[in-house]
Amino acid sequence: MSERKRNPQQSIRAHCLWCMGGSSQLVRECLDESCALYQLRGPKSDEAERVCLRTIRRHCLACTVGDRQAIRACPEKECVLRPYRFGVHPRTIKRRRKRQVEKNHLMLPGM
Ligand code: SF4
Repeated sequence: MSERKRNPQQSIRAHCLWCMGGSSQLVRECLDESCALYQLRGPKSDEAERVCLRTIRRHCLACTVGDRQAIRACPEKECVLRPYRFGVHPRTIKRRRKRQVEKNHLMLPGM
């Protein structure tokens, strides 16, 4: 799969297309209702970004058989879902880390 930046919904679509060998018809006709991505596989979905992120997290949990450490250390750089595997948008993680660093640099009065 390509390196193109995708939003969570586009990543789900790309993953389903990859799963079906690039055939949009096979994605449309997919019968695997047990797949976490099944409901969001269409070319367009009205679901909110948060729902897509949670769904990707659920899919990653299924992929690693529930092993959260394996998700954290996922080596599959080619997987389009990888940036969203924590169920949170990467920009949110970046913002949280920045806030954490700022907190560590907090100087108390008189020090
Ligand atoms: S990102 Fe990793 S854990 Fe998630 S679906 Fe892809 S390969 Fe599996």
